[in-house]
Amino acid sequence: MSSIPFIDLQAQQARIRPEIDRRIQDVLNHGKYIMGPEVAELESRLADYVGVQHCIGVASGTDALLMALMAYGVGPGDAVFTTPFTFVATAEVISLLGATPVFVDIDPQTFNICPKSLEQAIAKARAENRGQLIPRGIVPVDLFGLPADYDAINALAKTHGLFVLEDSAQGLGGVYKGRMACSLAHSAATSFFPAKPLGCYGDGGAIFTSDDEFAEKLRSIRVHGKGSNKYDNIRIGVNGRLDTLQAAILLPKFDIFPEEIDKRNAVAEGYSKRLSQVPGLRLPIMPEGYRSAWAQYSLLTERREELQASLKAVGVPTAVYYPKPLHLQTAYGGLGSGEGAFPESEKAAQSIMSLPMHPYLQEEQIAFICDTIRESLR
Ligand SMILES: *Cc1c(COP(=O)(O)O)cnc(C)c1O
Repeated sequence: MSSIPFIDLQAQQARIRPEIDRRIQDVLNHGKYIMGPEVAELESRLADYVGVQHCIGVASGTDALLMALMAYGVGPGDAVFTTPFTFVATAEVISLLGATPVFVDIDPQTFNICPKSLEQAIAKARAENRGQLIPRGIVPVDLFGLPADYDAINALAKTHGLFVLEDSAQGLGGVYKGRMACSLAHSAATSFFPAKPLGCYGDGGAIFTSDDEFAEKLRSIRVHGKGSNKYDNIRIGVNGRLDTLQAAILLPKFDIFPEEIDKRNAVAEGYSKRLSQVPGLRLPIMPEGYRSAWAQYSLLTERREELQASLKAVGVPTAVYYPKPLHLQTAYGGLGSGEGAFPESEKAAQSIMSLPMHPYLQEEQIAFICDTIRESLR
């Protein structure tokens, strides 16, 4: 079998290339490269899909997180609770604003922030840090496309007067108890990085909220804190706009996105069905009432290196998300949590591995990958 791509953007492009070309031509013809009509069109379609009032297209998923935190007024002295088992951007933006990320361990079943540990962390921060760090907000991550437990998280936030910003960079297309990912908290951030479930051909992202005032603030922050225009500056902002060309590329991609999410779910079911009897694997779980966007299909194995090598030898790429939890990264050493501080995150980092995942993975490719895994672990 010829080698299998980890993520297949070519197969998707082949399906919709004429429409992408036409949309790019439209932009070249009208010439509105900054905030052209495609941006508003995409924002309106995404807001409808997710089921919120506002979508604000921005320059990246990282900017989406950063700008939302800016709109909450996060700054020095603020504690923001998040998970150490995520892509670095989640915590980075908290630090960038001078606030302090307070890590909370994950639920080993879902790999998402554990509501029980979160409750303890908030209580601890209130007791110990009185007068130093003020708990301000929570940034749960919908890791690998599976929403975090928002009923529990939002309830804690309400009790303690905290904001909740959903990091759904991997989560768009997921569902939690009948509600779409990116609508599960006061605000949400997503990413259109090419490898995400809905990816563009460069960098892009979006923020979602149903709070009119908050959305207005974000539209101002997006353009240098503009008031009536960008030469009237009423707050500190950034240059955080989504490119018109990227919006134009996303529109035809979004046409087939819901179908692609179904296909990703079918691929995940194919993996889980074929791997369920293989000893020594812990497969991803799907709690009742959840649907994942399947940004990644990630399993746990004590024999990771061996398994990765066997798959590589037959042309099957794998990846490790994430090899080192954030509290053990050099950049976050200053926070003072060493080895053993977040055991579930550390355990996951040591044995997790992701299989190829995209909507165009064929049944026989899935069978081949699973057969190789079964053979290798024999
Ligand atoms: C990809 C990702 C981001 C950052 O998105 P970019 O568009 O690459 O800036 C943030 N958080 C998580 C969990 C991600 O996976």
